[in-house]
Amino acid sequence: MPKASSQAAKAMATPPDGRFIPKHRIAGGHVPRVEPCMPDQPITIPPDLRRDLSIRSIRSTIVDVPTVRRHKLSQTSVTAQSYVIVEIRLANGAEGIGEAATLGGPRWSEESVEAIKANIDAYLAPALIGLPADRFEVAGARMDAAAKRNNAAKAAIETALFDAVGRTLGIPAALLLGGIVRDSVPVLWTLASGDPAQEIEEAEAKLAARLHDTFKVKIGALAPEADLARLHRLAGALGGRARFIVDANQAWDETTANRCLPVLAELDVRLVEQPLPAWNVAGMARVRARSAIPLMADECVFSTHDMLGVAQAAAADVVSLKLVKHAGLLNLHRVAAVAEAAGIGLYGGCLLESSIGAAAHLQAFAGLRELAWGCEHFGPQILTDDLVEEPLRFEDFRVHLPAGPGIGVTLDRDKLRRYARG
Ligand SMILES: [Mg+2]
Repeated sequence: MPKASSQAAKAMATPPDGRFIPKHRIAGGHVPRVEPCMPDQPITIPPDLRRDLSIRSIRSTIVDVPTVRRHKLSQTSVTAQSYVIVEIRLANGAEGIGEAATLGGPRWSEESVEAIKANIDAYLAPALIGLPADRFEVAGARMDAAAKRNNAAKAAIETALFDAVGRTLGIPAALLLGGIVRDSVPVLWTLASGDPAQEIEEAEAKLAARLHDTFKVKIGALAPEADLARLHRLAGALGGRARFIVDANQAWDETTANRCLPVLAELDVRLVEQPLPAWNVAGMARVRARSAIPLMADECVFSTHDMLGVAQAAAADVVSLKLVKHAGLLNLHRVAAVAEAAGIGLYGGCLLESSIGAAAHLQAFAGLRELAWGCEHFGPQILTDDLVEEPLRFEDFRVHLPAGPGIGVTLDRDKLRRYARG
């Protein structure tokens, strides 16, 4: 496709977020209106809670929670989600929780729940015992010194630190990250059974319940032509009432992407996620230059350095932000800042987190100035059970920031015991 029409089509692609705060309003000094989540009165910190923020203990537990249906990606397929739940206790008695999500073992990335738990117990936790929990940057530096990468493990621990400190102070973690810009985010649903008849039925139910009107179709497990035929059926049945993006999870090579993307453009697919292997950033840039559809970087962006490389190569229009990739809430904001500096749009990615991981992401997303492409934190809804006392609220195609202190959700310890492995 010629470059001019490609650019015009990109300009017409509409982000799914109908309610995000336009940049000019922030730049013009207008304060975004959000629901108050803080009391009018100054916060009084109980002296016994204020006394000592030292990290006393860090505990990790592997849990396996069944999913409501099989979830098929290009490289794996799951019927249960495995997480490591991290519980941190401070000297003041406050507790914090965090979650490391994986997808079918060390297939999506190099981390498995077994490795995450082993490295937390043997290396990351010992590096932090005794450190005041509000020294977030020091904690990050100590964890980086104790273990290379292990980003999901580090993110789970950092989440638990923000949760414990937020609970100590009685404030949401988002306030420790710069304050709240939005208190809800548009949330899509992923179609990943591979069976178009089942997927149409699933999407119809989500539309009817006003839960989701944007759908991400996982492609790459089938041959490209079979996936295109599947998209044809989905668009034919739901077009006009639903929007679609696709995620190939690195399954295609450059020639396959160049052959398939014009067909996806005709089907009005809004965004194509990680069509090529993570290593092929130069290939992504070449595909993007010919594509009428914006490209999203996922598996090729873990670190800020990765983000800078993708930006310099002009290899993506949008980036998917995930705690398991960026090693924590602070670094998620750093990756977002590099993307913003390059004019790359932001999208809230997931790895089928439970309400714990989803709530942590919402705390991080709440403080981003832009999140034009919405998010995909539907994970709690694909599980047969929830791990928290009060589930997240999904309503009118949005997921809402929980109002409580810390990450805003409270671990149900009975459920933790029920789903704990071994
Ligand atoms: Mg992806």
